[in-house]
Amino acid sequence: MTDTKKRQATWLTKEKRPIVIAGPCSVETEEQLIDTAKRLKATGKSDILRGGIWKPRTRPGSFEGVGAKGLPWMAKAKELTGFPTTVEVAKARHVDLCLEFGIDILWIGARTTVNPFAVQEIADALRGVDIPVLIKNPINPDLALWKGAFERLDAVGIKELGAIHRGFSYSGEKYYRNRPQWQIPIQFMQEFPEIPMIADPSHICGRRDILQDVGQKAMDLDFDGLMIESHIDPDNAWSDAKQQITPEVFGAMVTEMVLREDYEGEVPIQTPLQQFREEIKNIDDDIVDLLSNRMKIVNDIGKYKKDNNMTIYQNKTWTKKIQRYLKIGNRNGLSDEFIRKLFAAIHDESINQQNSIFKGR
Ligand code: PEP
Ligand code: MN
Repeated sequence: MTDTKKRQATWLTKEKRPIVIAGPCSVETEEQLIDTAKRLKATGKSDILRGGIWKPRTRPGSFEGVGAKGLPWMAKAKELTGFPTTVEVAKARHVDLCLEFGIDILWIGARTTVNPFAVQEIADALRGVDIPVLIKNPINPDLALWKGAFERLDAVGIKELGAIHRGFSYSGEKYYRNRPQWQIPIQFMQEFPEIPMIADPSHICGRRDILQDVGQKAMDLDFDGLMIESHIDPDNAWSDAKQQITPEVFGAMVTEMVLREDYEGEVPIQTPLQQFREEIKNIDDDIVDLLSNRMKIVNDIGKYKKDNNMTIYQNKTWTKKIQRYLKIGNRNGLSDEFIRKLFAAIHDESINQQNSIFKGR
């Protein structure tokens, strides 16, 4: 990917920054798509129209996209608004259909980037084709896997490549739907400064109230663009209803964003210390998530004990537990004192929580 700079996409080299991609998570009906596109056009804040035609769903049974019949609607939306269009492709057949219907830009979704077979299938279908391709980060925080997808597309001669940062999956209580782990896209930008990096606050947040902050953060980190899901009736969207916003809310949001003057500016260099701090913050977030989950179970146990007339404190179980963690802690270089203090604190909180249950809080 060394000479990508020379071959950068025309739609990305235009002077305007950021490049803003907006449109519904899923194309649902012709009317929904056209209305969304027209209202996005009216905001003057959007450059490219997105639409999900085939939806990769975590579980079967949810809306899986209208399929190929939505492609002529994308073409019509383009005709009416002038927006270039972009659609997610997950296999060769999708690529062929998008090319047939004149889709301008393809994107590879997070659930596809994780799978080198699928990425290779798409790459093979694109051999000799001149079309820009945006590649979302894989669901898991694996920079090499993300880079691998670029290498596969680069190897078949795709000249116009862009990256989309949509956050990374994690378990536990969620603030974000997909945790941003900004140090990963930043590292990508440092390694490949010629590849435009677009943030997808919609899939990072999974909710509306923090979209603006996350979008702003991406702008502050000198990202090249934004992809934001917008729907004429977000609450009734057939997919990702919680994170979509109307075109007007989208317009206001982008208008309010503070953009850096210096778009030629360097990606802010993250010192190793900043990277370590970010990693620690992610781990601390996990610790608090895990402790909250633990306390939820503690509460369930509290209810059970209350219903069955059992005592809260059961000394034998606890002593056994401490022995176990002293052993594991020792193996990993953690002192006895630390393990005892840590578990004493956890234990205190658990007992307090169960006490409130016994008191019938
Ligand atoms: C989408 O853009 O609607 C989508 C499915 O995103 P992701 O691949 O990031 O989950
Ligand atoms: Mn979506």
